[in-house]
Amino acid sequence: MAEVRFHQVSKAYPPLRGGDRPVEVLQRLDLAVADGEFLVLVGPSGCGKSTLLRLLAGLESPSGGEIYVGDRPVSRLRPAERDVAMVFQSYALYPHLSVADNISFGLRRSRPRTATEQLLDSLHRATRPWPAPLRIRSDREAAIERRVAEVATTLELDGLLERRPKELSGGQKQRVALGRAIARKPAVFLMDEPLSNLDAKLRTGTRAQIVELQRRLGTTTLYVTHDQVEAMTMGHRIAVLNGGRLQQLGTPLELYQWPANLFVAQFIGSPPMNLIPVTVASPGQLLLEGRRLLVEGPMAEALGGRQGQALTGGLRPEHLKLAPATNRNLAAEVSHVEALGNEQLVTCRLLEGSHLVLVRATPDQSVTVGQSVHLEIDPSGWRLFEGEGVALPRPKRPLEKGKPLELPQIQGDLQV
Ligand code: ADP
Ligand code: MG
Repeated sequence: MAEVRFHQVSKAYPPLRGGDRPVEVLQRLDLAVADGEFLVLVGPSGCGKSTLLRLLAGLESPSGGEIYVGDRPVSRLRPAERDVAMVFQSYALYPHLSVADNISFGLRRSRPRTATEQLLDSLHRATRPWPAPLRIRSDREAAIERRVAEVATTLELDGLLERRPKELSGGQKQRVALGRAIARKPAVFLMDEPLSNLDAKLRTGTRAQIVELQRRLGTTTLYVTHDQVEAMTMGHRIAVLNGGRLQQLGTPLELYQWPANLFVAQFIGSPPMNLIPVTVASPGQLLLEGRRLLVEGPMAEALGGRQGQALTGGLRPEHLKLAPATNRNLAAEVSHVEALGNEQLVTCRLLEGSHLVLVRATPDQSVTVGQSVHLEIDPSGWRLFEGEGVALPRPKRPLEKGKPLELPQIQGDLQV
């Protein structure tokens, strides 16, 4: 078990053929993953997610900064010395080895052996099929066999130990890859889009299995995915990466509800947040093409002193709903409908400003393309972003009247 810390880590790859500039992937990245945490890493393709894991695994070395596993700086250690295990999207199993040997591969590599030990280990393996009295026993090999059996039981691979990878289904291969990672009881698991080669149904099952396994083992885990559902459901926290920089780090709900900038607002959540240009009319009111729109909740306060400022207003699709025609609701025309069974995603064009917005509707509402509708905005749903795309700070909740200020309890003598 260990905390993982990236301290000011940069990575530049040498210039690609024909180019003269190095490819800068990560820039002075700071990121701390707590001991036992399941951290999900997301970001657009090419933003450096795999590079980040490979740096920690020791498959690449940083151009600057340091990576710590627990208190140990690891960037100069060989991969085998780092106490981390990686699971790849492509499984990366050894095709010529059995499932059992794939799982135990890391165990056999973990410590150099003397020539005598090597001989004994080989004899143990060679005489294993023989009758018990004739077998030659190596304690090390016996311990490895026990560990492989434990791992196989955990991952339901018991009946498959003698098979080769080509005799396995995709899901079974992925479990063997997981088995190889957990066999060594590493301090850190690294998983790089491990489910993206599985079909949708198998993915759901394996997703639950990985979460369960991580919870049971309590091993610090960095998990890369581009799947929204995996990102929202698997981890304790999500780190969003873009352009070599960390955009936001927080719980899935924090990121969904309070994105720190427009990039996160658009990246987290499917379908993404609706964005429309607005102007501040007064605290509590925005203007959209001359129409006054109400803002309630913490964002209403954040508008204080910003009269006349142009902002980007964000609304999640669930903060808009089809509603009766009133002079408060926005008139719009339906331009596209996706009926998903449990809900409908309705794309509407606002009459004010012609902006397109996505609205969640219940499956029983009848909506057709070209229909005129009215949209009601949840006034507490507004999220607001300034010119550079940075979210307006959320005012701190004022202390409730009459409630004493809660301070952390300090026990024992305070030593200064
Ligand atoms: P992600 O996993 O987020 O899709 P990667 O970490 O694989 O992104 O890659 C980040 C960037 O680094 C990409 O632009 C990629 O082309 C580049 N890159 C990755 N590996 C190398 C390499 N060995 N040499 C040069 N450029 C590389
Ligand atoms: Mg990748």
